[in-house]
Amino acid sequence: WVVASLTKKHLPLARFIGDGAAPSAPNFDVVVIGGGHAGTEAAAAAARCGSRTLLLTHRVDTIGQMSCNPSFGGIGKGHLMREVDALDGLCSRICDQSGVHYKVLNRRKGPAVWGLRAQIDRKLYKRNMQKEILNTPLLTVQEGAVEDLILTEPEPEHTGKCRVSGVVLADGSTVHAESVVLTTGTFLRGVIVIGLEMHPAGRLGDQPSVGLAQTLEKLGFVVGRLKTGTPPRIAKESVNFSILNKQTPDNPSIPFSFVSETVWIKPEDQLPCYLTHTNPRVDEIVLENLHLNSHIKETTRGPRYCPSIESKVLRFPNRLHQVWLEPEGMDSELIYPQGLSVTLPAELQEKMITCIKGLEKAKMIQPGYGVQYDYLDPRQITPSLETHLVQRLFFAGQINGTTGYEEAAAQGVIAGINASLRVKHKPPFVVSRTEGYIGVLIDDLTTLGTNEPYRMFTSRAEFRLSLRPDNADSRLTFRGYKEVGCVSQQRYERASWMKSSLEEGISVLKSIEFSSSKWKKLIPEASISIVKSLPLRALDVLKYEEVDMKLLAKAVPEPLKKYVESRELAERLKIEATYESVLFHQQQQIKEVQQDEALQLPKDLDYLTLRDVSLSYEVREKLHFIRPETIGAASRIPGVTPAAIINLLRFVKTTQ
Ligand code: FAD
Repeated sequence: WVVASLTKKHLPLARFIGDGAAPSAPNFDVVVIGGGHAGTEAAAAAARCGSRTLLLTHRVDTIGQMSCNPSFGGIGKGHLMREVDALDGLCSRICDQSGVHYKVLNRRKGPAVWGLRAQIDRKLYKRNMQKEILNTPLLTVQEGAVEDLILTEPEPEHTGKCRVSGVVLADGSTVHAESVVLTTGTFLRGVIVIGLEMHPAGRLGDQPSVGLAQTLEKLGFVVGRLKTGTPPRIAKESVNFSILNKQTPDNPSIPFSFVSETVWIKPEDQLPCYLTHTNPRVDEIVLENLHLNSHIKETTRGPRYCPSIESKVLRFPNRLHQVWLEPEGMDSELIYPQGLSVTLPAELQEKMITCIKGLEKAKMIQPGYGVQYDYLDPRQITPSLETHLVQRLFFAGQINGTTGYEEAAAQGVIAGINASLRVKHKPPFVVSRTEGYIGVLIDDLTTLGTNEPYRMFTSRAEFRLSLRPDNADSRLTFRGYKEVGCVSQQRYERASWMKSSLEEGISVLKSIEFSSSKWKKLIPEASISIVKSLPLRALDVLKYEEVDMKLLAKAVPEPLKKYVESRELAERLKIEATYESVLFHQQQQIKEVQQDEALQLPKDLDYLTLRDVSLSYEVREKLHFIRPETIGAASRIPGVTPAAIINLLRFVKTTQ
């Protein structure tokens, strides 16, 4: 990456003030452009940090709009939401007030990889988000399209780099600010595609951002092109649900937010989802009409992880693909067919839909469409999300090549915090890979970049047994409160209570010891093997799958009964017990890697012949080709496992 040093002559589009004259006083500390999922979190976070913040967006009535799926969370994504919430972000709380079907995914696996997920009522989410944003102290909201950036001379300590100091709107008016956060989603030179028709739009019904895209390109930012798509919407009353598999929500519902005792709606009042599948006729319609589908013909990279039905048919022919029929809201007449993202001409979409079981008489209300847009290579930003090229300019959300509301929200909260810290001349707030999925996301983006829409998975995190959804508060809330001030007193106190209760609970569970035969008598449900000589701690008994805190507290009411008064505390104690030994081991590994992140790897190391070190051939090959300079860089190579890093680290330390 060539990070050019900018001067006035390089900036034909961006407004340049300076020339020795002092710029006018800023109107705001932080200006956030875009009221989507990154922008709302960024604006609210900057305001929570005490900065006078302006959220500038096309339309106030689209703030919090869910452009695609009516759901939040899922595997990896639910983890991000918990971390955003731990920093007092908005989306988790708003989801707890707007969901219509809450379900934890991956329940059969361990709690470290459970995926909190909910179907969300779109209208309610938007209404609740707008209410929150419009009532946030220090936050002003203004409608307008930003066309250009105002730049000033570099700060003395950063000679060579110019600095953003405001924005220019389409009507020519200007707003001055100390920091600017860009969260423009799919709007930069956005083009919508249905069949062979293409027209400029950021998403259906919204104008694209062209001027701003040109400004960024002229400034020297490396711009790429990505595409994504959305399925058609179907009239609910035209679907024959009676012949489909029904999925009911969880009972009880698990809230997303640490501060929500429960969600706004009882499980019995929530709406079901239904499962159907594609069939060979769907494949035929897709394959016979590829020539009418410019989105598929285009060479720009589509989403690998929410692929269109066309790409699924092309990549996995002759397979039946799942289609989930999801409610769009409590009183919505629409159904969202998840898995059926498509860009065929509208009449062919309708034809395709009606050959699917349960949809034989389905009425299409809105066709699916694709969108192609500019994104900025995220290697141009730092871990605080500030650009290398222009000081005080931050990027967050889909503009950085990610896809998904949760990935956008996670970047938004970090960009908002850092835009505010920058104004106060404070050091940046960075989350490391060992501290959170937010760290994994930002580290992957800023070091590896991406050439296809990036989404989060638990498999991307090396230390996923520590980075669990249940403990995001203990990882981030205290940092957010003490270092940054973005966390409310009430949340801090709640997290502190939970932390001390967990510590106390664990030490009590460690202190209760009986022989295994006595435990067997106390809890006959447990499959405890009786080993006479060994006393067993209550914490070890809690590790058995069939034992929970309720059973344990029934067996030993004193002193355990107080730990089942809070459902969350009881569940978290069970999770802590489950992971106790493996976590101890992992914490040691985290410390080891953290201490030696900067350790230089020998330049002449022949990885291919390193047979004595326990590294798979695949890992050795990757190290051989990439030749990372440090242990930290090696750990970030996709496919190089944490275990491999530990083995490599130990080898290098012993041979140095
Ligand atoms: P957005 O939510 O898009 O918000 C951008 C905001 O910026 C908007 O409010 C807009 O009005 C505003 N804005 C833009 N330019 C300007 C300007 N110049 N001046 C002022 N305001 C401006 N995600 C998935 O996970 N799976 C999918 O299958 C999927 N499919 C999608 C299909 C479509 C058609 C679209 C449009 C998006 C899809 N997404 C999908 C992506 C998901 O919607 C985004 O990841 C998420 O909304 C990104 O959030 P964001 O805040 O970065 O941008």
